[in-house]
Amino acid sequence: MQNKTLIQYFHWYYNEPDNLWVKAAKEAENLKKLGITTVWFPPANKGSNGGYSVGYDSYDLYDLGEFDQKNAVSTKYGNKAEYLAAIQQLHENKIGVLADVVFNHKAGGDELETITVRKVNEENRTEFISEEMEIEAWTKFTFPGRNWQYSDFIWDHQCFTGVDWAQNLNESAIFSIQNEYNESWQKVPSNELGNYDYLMFNDIDYRNVAVKQELKNWGKWFYETTNIDGFRLDAVKHISSDFLIEWMDDMKRSCGKDFFFVAENWNIAEVEELAKYIELTGGRTQLFDSLLHHNFYLASTAGKDYNLAAIFDNTLVQRTPTMAVTFVDNHDSQPLQALDSFISFWFRPLAYAMILLREGGIPCVFYTDLYGASYEDVGKQIELIGLKELQELLTIRTNLAYGKQIDYLDHPNCIGWTRAGDEEHPNSGFAVLMSNGEEGFKEMEVGIAFSGKTFVDALGNRQGEVIINEHGKGSFYCNGGSVSVWIISSN
Ligand code: CA
Repeated sequence: MQNKTLIQYFHWYYNEPDNLWVKAAKEAENLKKLGITTVWFPPANKGSNGGYSVGYDSYDLYDLGEFDQKNAVSTKYGNKAEYLAAIQQLHENKIGVLADVVFNHKAGGDELETITVRKVNEENRTEFISEEMEIEAWTKFTFPGRNWQYSDFIWDHQCFTGVDWAQNLNESAIFSIQNEYNESWQKVPSNELGNYDYLMFNDIDYRNVAVKQELKNWGKWFYETTNIDGFRLDAVKHISSDFLIEWMDDMKRSCGKDFFFVAENWNIAEVEELAKYIELTGGRTQLFDSLLHHNFYLASTAGKDYNLAAIFDNTLVQRTPTMAVTFVDNHDSQPLQALDSFISFWFRPLAYAMILLREGGIPCVFYTDLYGASYEDVGKQIELIGLKELQELLTIRTNLAYGKQIDYLDHPNCIGWTRAGDEEHPNSGFAVLMSNGEEGFKEMEVGIAFSGKTFVDALGNRQGEVIINEHGKGSFYCNGGSVSVWIISSN
């Protein structure tokens, strides 16, 4: 079995000459060579800002760049035919594809409705700060450009728990919709702000059974249309977990396919919050390890003052490794985006070694580390350079990162681990050593099967050779603020 490796195939400011679907199709063969097994694509459906939407302002789930809606046929990433062609090209290269789905909200309603609402305290959503009042809100979605193709479902205020814009009052606030299904928010996993059901736009209410059925119908249609392999579920801490469980189970049953699910449940404080979600959903979905990303961020900003021996403490990959999707950065943490917690360049090779070369977790590579990126926002110009070590690290993951792991997380500035390799992968196994301070060295055990063998640093950061002794151990080296990956010399 080859190690599974994901790539997040976009970043917030994707702006290359080829649209994203076309680029992915062209790159499919290269991605296979790099050892990528699964590609995570951004939302493929039309957003409220037409051809400019990154995709998280979901308007019409059935419009994959096919209908003239929101002033565009194509989405930012291309049209439906190009999307389907990219998936097919990736499949031909034995690469799976994950679709990004936004089930928390809808944006860009087509018509105003007069609805009954109560304002809530933004800091405590369970506290009403007004009596019932009528407002005009964009809660009706008729999708006129699609003309009822694929689905004749019309969304209205009975489908939503809240909105943040009253058109007639020209007022922004959080308005709890009072309708036949609810007088308040739906129970969701996050109790931040009292109840964190409401995030943005028109918040979808899963107490309405017609809404649940519509999204099950959509899921089946989407699978039959795209032949997708799994889903990245956006913002799940704001969504009824009962609904998501029902939807995931229905998808597997109605499509007869064992989809891969990974959910975004952003938390940088407490790993038990992620563990609770896994329990709540019965292990149906993997979770992104936002806590590991946070530790990387702290480590990359603190330099030698960070205790590397504790870098996996309070992370999902340490707590529940089988459920963790590990990553270094994503479209929210990149510079100028919402979280803006991008890992410093000096630390990125260390962070990638920690997600790609260890036993626990399924790693997800970020687009800009493969291709780089150049973009401008709020008057600032950002240049992200690709990670020169990435290709080598991916090759090592694909070919050599197998077998038992021994950890040497025993020094605040210098840590390492070894993999013993297995019989299925020739010459597999290695020793990793990294430092956030001075040059480091450490005696580590790779196993007696390697006794007498010569190891060299595959990243080329150290020039020397290490001979494994009769006890299966070697004394390995790395430079200051650097990582070395010692593998069997091919010479
Ligand atoms: Ca919600």
